[in-house]
Amino acid sequence: MIRDRLLRICENLWWCWDVQATELFACLHPERWEEVQHNPLMLLEELDDSTLERLHARCPGALEAVERKFDAYLAETNTWASREMAAFTGSVCYFSMEFALHESLPIYSGGLGVLAGDHLKSASDLGLPLVGVGLLYREGYFKQVIANNRQVPAWPTTPLEHTPLKKLDVFVDVPHGHHTYKAQVWELKVGRIRLYLLDSDVEGNRPEHRNLSMQLYGGDAATRIQQEVLLGIGGVRALRALKIEPTVIHMNEGHAAFAVIERWREELQAGYATAAAFERVRRTCVFTTHTPVDAGHDRFNWDLKHEALEGLREDMGLPEGAFMDLGRVQRGNVNEPLCMTVLALRGSRAANGVARLHGEVSRKMWKNLYPSLKEDEVPIGSVTNGVHAPSWMSAAMQHLLDEASPGWRDGVMPSLKAVSDERLWQMRCSLRLKLVAWANRQLGRDWLDPDALTIGFARRFAPYKRGNLLFTDPDRLAAILTHKPVQILFAGKAHPRDAAGQGILRDVLEWTRDERFRGRVIFLPDYDMALGRRLTQGVDVWLNTPRRPREASGTSGMKVPLNLGINCSILDGWWPEAFDGTNGWAIGDGVERPTPEEQDAADVESLYLLLEQQIVPEFYARDDGQVPHAWVSRMRRSLETCAHQFHTNRMVAEYTRKYYLG
Ligand SMILES: *Cc1c(COP(=O)(O)O)cnc(C)c1O
Repeated sequence: MIRDRLLRICENLWWCWDVQATELFACLHPERWEEVQHNPLMLLEELDDSTLERLHARCPGALEAVERKFDAYLAETNTWASREMAAFTGSVCYFSMEFALHESLPIYSGGLGVLAGDHLKSASDLGLPLVGVGLLYREGYFKQVIANNRQVPAWPTTPLEHTPLKKLDVFVDVPHGHHTYKAQVWELKVGRIRLYLLDSDVEGNRPEHRNLSMQLYGGDAATRIQQEVLLGIGGVRALRALKIEPTVIHMNEGHAAFAVIERWREELQAGYATAAAFERVRRTCVFTTHTPVDAGHDRFNWDLKHEALEGLREDMGLPEGAFMDLGRVQRGNVNEPLCMTVLALRGSRAANGVARLHGEVSRKMWKNLYPSLKEDEVPIGSVTNGVHAPSWMSAAMQHLLDEASPGWRDGVMPSLKAVSDERLWQMRCSLRLKLVAWANRQLGRDWLDPDALTIGFARRFAPYKRGNLLFTDPDRLAAILTHKPVQILFAGKAHPRDAAGQGILRDVLEWTRDERFRGRVIFLPDYDMALGRRLTQGVDVWLNTPRRPREASGTSGMKVPLNLGINCSILDGWWPEAFDGTNGWAIGDGVERPTPEEQDAADVESLYLLLEQQIVPEFYARDDGQVPHAWVSRMRRSLETCAHQFHTNRMVAEYTRKYYLG
């Protein structure tokens, strides 16, 4: 039956990064496909068998082609990892608090989750023996509704029956104080990879424990530490219950650092002495740190730690303060809280930041942990982030590259040499049109112009990202937007407990209603993966204005070149590695000024000048055929210099060589 054959495809998230598979679902029922938010299980549930048969007949051969591709993908044995990691046994176990795989599974908040999701997809494509470990959240991260220029968070429950998650008959005990509670394990197929999610919403558990599986980054510090115990300690126990050998534990962010403690318990139980046991743990763990912003590192005070883990410490026969000290820069300093990053650094054989600049900043930030070493000897390296290109490149661009640059999917650097300026410009205009038409439908107005230079800015509204920097001189900005038609699309959430971030968001919302900007500066609510894809596929320019050097890497900008968009960014995060003068624009000079005020003033002046003198004129410099050739060569450079280097395939290969096999 058609239904069963389609169900088999959507039980594995592979479909969501295969153009033919997504086009198959869209082809069945284009309108409903949009309305069910690209969730094939929901689509199939709505259609009865005879309708399905009829719709299927409209897409001849499509299902068969997808089935052949899917089966071939799963059966392939000659993968990159089969050649590079032939001697590796066991598994790389990748722990993360969030995973962004598809919008229908909202267990992510933003960049960290997108990175983790893309890591799994590339690991699958490369054939790595890797499993993901995370938490299942019934409500996930909040959905953003805008009312009266304010963000109102909503926490709808995800219908798990409409996800490809499978509940396993696998339970683990998770410590809390002197007691334990149960967590159940769910399985998700991500191509050739498995992601295991822990769920504490289990019958028989106390409400406070069941609640841990509700919201991502939702509760207070007491909730957070328990979620991190569930991830770190519960995660290692889940691997054991599943009989998976964690040859390498990769802690994506300090959230997962309690995995070190559980591994230590195991080695002590196996009979190793305290220090030897810890050394054995270190040999199996690697750690990636994700932010140079101090407040971004979780810290827990003694009371919280005591409440969460005291029973476990006693069971392990360790002296009081043993766990706390592992998470303190200065052991024995009772005024220091337990920092998850410090715990992860102490418990790992290797660590890294997520861009070259972030590696440098991290070595400076944590040098006190290594008093005998010079700053450049601090053992924190860097692996620059990437994005999973097939997940973020529009279908039209994938078809164009398949034709113009075959081999791009298998690691050959993509080239646009064979494609004319006219064709590339046409592609750019049709991608912009698609976004503009969609946004106008959402807005219920014809505000946006499909031919106007379209700039995108989508970020978490954290103060250092300076979401309102552009409005420093509103009249000057208004002149820029009206001299020639320019429109700006904003999106982004502010964490419900980040008052400063909410203030900046409110500011931007108010500017969208200012008469100078109405209809030209637009805010699109509820930034998620689907909106992220639409924006990064449609815009001409992606704007990024963090206060250097606070942006660890950023990945949204890496999605833009894949769709012939161009970055205009502060030289922060990944951009100093990518920018070469021909493939985008750099705001400012990469010099850090003494005060934030001076920094902001210098950066915004540089941004205005770029817009006035370079970006807008270049976009509108047209030949007789209406093609802006200088702009198109910048589009070419953008894709050709970024698509290969900032791909998670390169990133996962680098992790494998430098960290997993090291
Ligand atoms: C890509 C993406 C991000 C990452 O954005 P940065 O601001 O570049 O770190 C965050 N959220 C969503 C929804 C994304 O798609």
